[in-house]
Amino acid sequence: QDAGGERELTDGFNLIIDALKLNGVKTLYAVPGIPITDFLRMSQAEGLRVLSFRHEQAAGYAASIAGYLTKQPGICVTVSAPGFLNGLTALAHATTNCFPMILISGSSEREIVDLQQGDYEEMDQLAIAKPLCKAAFRVLHAQDIGIGLARAIRAAVSGRPGGVYLDLPAKLFGQVMDAEAGRKSLVKVIDPAPAQIPAPESIKRALEVLKSAKKPLIILGKGAAYAQADDAVKALIEKSGVPFLPMSMAKGLLPDTHPQCAGAARSTVLKDSDVVMLIGARLNWLLSHGKGKAWGDAPKKFIQIDIEPKEMDSNVEIVAPVVGDIGSCVDALLKGMGDKWPAPSADWVSAVAKKREENVAKMAPRLMNNNVPMDYHGALGVLRTIVKERPDAILVNEGANTLDLARGIIDVYKPRKRIDVGTWGIMGIGMGYAVAAAVETGQRVLCVEGDSAFGFSGMEIETICRYGLPVCIVVFNNDGIYRGTDVNKTSDDPATTVFVKGARYDKMMEAFGGVGVNATSPDELKRAVNAAMDSGKPTLINAVLDPAAGSESGRIGNLNPQSQLKKK
Ligand code: ADP
Ligand code: MG
Repeated sequence: QDAGGERELTDGFNLIIDALKLNGVKTLYAVPGIPITDFLRMSQAEGLRVLSFRHEQAAGYAASIAGYLTKQPGICVTVSAPGFLNGLTALAHATTNCFPMILISGSSEREIVDLQQGDYEEMDQLAIAKPLCKAAFRVLHAQDIGIGLARAIRAAVSGRPGGVYLDLPAKLFGQVMDAEAGRKSLVKVIDPAPAQIPAPESIKRALEVLKSAKKPLIILGKGAAYAQADDAVKALIEKSGVPFLPMSMAKGLLPDTHPQCAGAARSTVLKDSDVVMLIGARLNWLLSHGKGKAWGDAPKKFIQIDIEPKEMDSNVEIVAPVVGDIGSCVDALLKGMGDKWPAPSADWVSAVAKKREENVAKMAPRLMNNNVPMDYHGALGVLRTIVKERPDAILVNEGANTLDLARGIIDVYKPRKRIDVGTWGIMGIGMGYAVAAAVETGQRVLCVEGDSAFGFSGMEIETICRYGLPVCIVVFNNDGIYRGTDVNKTSDDPATTVFVKGARYDKMMEAFGGVGVNATSPDELKRAVNAAMDSGKPTLINAVLDPAAGSESGRIGNLNPQSQLKKK
């Protein structure tokens, strides 16, 4: 009771904000609307940074990658039903990619939703979210907000990270309770992602298998990058002397120019290796499920380090499963290796190095071409040099050919500097990722975007301009999906994969006060990107590519089903 005899009160709005702040949340990625508009206003007034997007999917992708970059759950806040569904794509994406994220959605009144009486934006959101995320919770009473958020945080970051849904019905926000009781109801999550120590026998087994190898290979995945055990991973690679292959978002964990990097000898090492140690990488489609042509005929033994026990034997037998967090596992391996670990066979190491040098040399002249209109290699050759000169910048990459070629051509030099389409190989992550990368790291961001990929989240350039973020977007504009050359022979409609010819994406940026540049040659591209990376001004460069450049589905055309009956 205060002096006036009135109880001090708090409410749902304030308790949610207090609970977020108590747990170190600094940023909300959101789209305002009923019932969360005032909640976002109050959050901003209370010192949380609220990034307000134009579409929930982009806000959600931003939150997901914030989780990846920081190991704290990225928080996305949406309105009910349609806003929730838009955010749900990103939540499923976070779960699939093992990124910690919490989607908080306002929802309609339970009484009406459960009787299906047709409320404003009626939807049973909790039920819909459940199969698409790691955990889903609903809070009905203000005094449960603290526990609800604590459960969400722990579920998102512990074990294999993933997406968590938190359902907050509109009525909860206004619920009033005694302020002191409210304060006591909040929970600060202690040790949200505890170390998971591997069993000593599993370490011994893994080292025995590795030691027996004639042609060992280590594959680093984005789980290894996420773990932020950078020094230990580097020490393991260098102490073992084993060639390593980084998956796309693990590029830069050790520099792509490291003498042991086998990125440019990928097909050789997959085929010819006899023992493969996977560190935070799944044997999913991105690694051809660990079998088939790509892996050659010789028998292979797999060692796998992963925090998720169920990942073992998912596609092929794992002879040495090591279950634990990557930091703890790699530390234990290093300890177990002792002081004199035998170097791998010199023949193997030099065969890999030779292959790599051949491939790099073959590529080099193509990267220096000055063709107009530009092709992928000419444009990417320029960006490759710019990234080399600016190793702290974050590279965002999406598209088909733009993705596949940039992944191979642009070297990355530091951990977690390359973020891309991830496990699903999706389009639309670009602008959300760019916003979060700039906000969470304070670094410059370079987005290398196919024109089609850019279209999925292009309106967020307004968001980038509004917050004045140091983001430079390069749209590889070849007039269409895969290519801009398809022709429809049966009607006046354009072919399904082509866009407006000669579109000027740079003018969109100018509409919001950003810098727009139309670049038609590698030289123009270079000047424009350097200027943007120097100034930090929001910039979009329309890079005019030959519409005939590119191939169907980039490197994964083999995944397209083929009709036997297709008319020629
Ligand atoms: P990539 O696509 O780069 O190959 P994946 O997403 O397939 O990577 O694999 C990442 C793996 O890393 C997942 O199986 C996940 O369980 C694991 N992982 C994520 N974080 C950790 C961690 N801190 N310690 C151990 N394993 C982790
Ligand atoms: Mg295109």
